[in-house]
Amino acid sequence: MKQYIDDNKERFFEELFSLLRIPSVSAKKEHKADMRHCAERLAVLLMEAGADEAAVYPSDGNPVVFGKKTIDPKFKTVLVYGHYDVQPPEPLEKWDSDPFEPVIKKDPTGRDAIYGRGANDDKGQLFMHIKAFEYLLRSGKLNHNVKFIFEGEEEISSPSLPAWVRANKSMLKSDVILVSDTTMISEKVPSINCGMRGMAYLEVTLTGPDKDLHSGHYGGTVANPIQTLCDIISSLIDKDGRVTVPGFYDDVVELSRSDRAQLARAPFDMKEFKSSVGVKALRGEKGYTPLERIGIRPCLDVCGIWGGYTGEGAKTVLPSVAHAKISMRLVPNQSSAIITRLFKKHIEKIAPKYCKIEVKPCEGGEGFLIPISSPAFQAASKAMTEVYGIQPVPSRGGGSIAVLADMQKILGVDPLLMGFGLERDTIHSPNESFLLKQFFAGMESIAKFFEYYDN
Ligand SMILES: [Zn+2]
Repeated sequence: MKQYIDDNKERFFEELFSLLRIPSVSAKKEHKADMRHCAERLAVLLMEAGADEAAVYPSDGNPVVFGKKTIDPKFKTVLVYGHYDVQPPEPLEKWDSDPFEPVIKKDPTGRDAIYGRGANDDKGQLFMHIKAFEYLLRSGKLNHNVKFIFEGEEEISSPSLPAWVRANKSMLKSDVILVSDTTMISEKVPSINCGMRGMAYLEVTLTGPDKDLHSGHYGGTVANPIQTLCDIISSLIDKDGRVTVPGFYDDVVELSRSDRAQLARAPFDMKEFKSSVGVKALRGEKGYTPLERIGIRPCLDVCGIWGGYTGEGAKTVLPSVAHAKISMRLVPNQSSAIITRLFKKHIEKIAPKYCKIEVKPCEGGEGFLIPISSPAFQAASKAMTEVYGIQPVPSRGGGSIAVLADMQKILGVDPLLMGFGLERDTIHSPNESFLLKQFFAGMESIAKFFEYYDN
């Protein structure tokens, strides 16, 4: 693949840039035509790379691109997932170059990188798959069937894809869902993500008196909703850092000693971690390391709290209402719906009689696990060991890609997360970039994955 990259680099850049120039921002309605344009461009690129068929399909939201190549129906099928939508580029003034006019230039460390919105997330990463496929096919080395599914709504939490996948289940029949939409620990520490957390997100509203009251006339005799809500919230985590909602941990799978030892291979510098977030000490669930608390344990956070008077100067008010937004990151096997129900039941039970409490679910999704022992994971590990010269570390991401959990459930196929992004790429932020070194190493790793994944 190395030689093929060398011989075709300029064409690769031009093709990728043609995708990056399309402002496919899913968050804004005004880009509807761009979404379609980008999907169509991808279908063309798939056909040019050698797919038997590739087309743009309607969904309830932005179109889905699906393409495939059948080498032999008896062979295993790899389903490549990616997303062509991008985050809004704002704030524009913080970009050093036009977010939709990609350029290759030196990064602050003097290395070449592609700059532009989507350079990494996820146009750059999905493009590596198209080119690895093209190389394998043209060199007669493709011994698998390959299917591609590219969606245009990942950045707005994939509202339409699960229904589309359900409706086209047989078309998507495959043995593994291969995804490059995550990061590695660092360039020197390649890693393969073996699980992600799910989430339950809720808004809590607590109402006391039926109107805002004078804090002089009523203070001290009518309970203050903000204080009551704070009391409730502070009781949700105990002194050992555990969530107190009854049943919260019931479905959490405890990791075996050997799995924990595997995860502990990831390097972690406590001092650097603390300084990177500007805190003097860390706090979390007793009995687990910081990386375990992020990767394999659930947690509860207050994302926002508001109520009463927050304007300039003093207004002596005893507010009628207080609100909080609460997120719970969940681990595989915990169900977002069950946790939401348990949380609601608990809050309603502990809320004092003198107030009214409402819990409104906002967003949810399931986490998932990828078995390290699976043939696909092992093939990816072997491939990356060869390209990077070091065996990749299995890592557990604290974030969520809920649609992959849905696809895993609907299709009954495990995802495999071979991500080549780095923290330095500042995805979702100004000056998003992708190191050329990673871009090429990604293509090589993907091509080798096919070589080692038993057909
Ligand atoms: Zn992404």
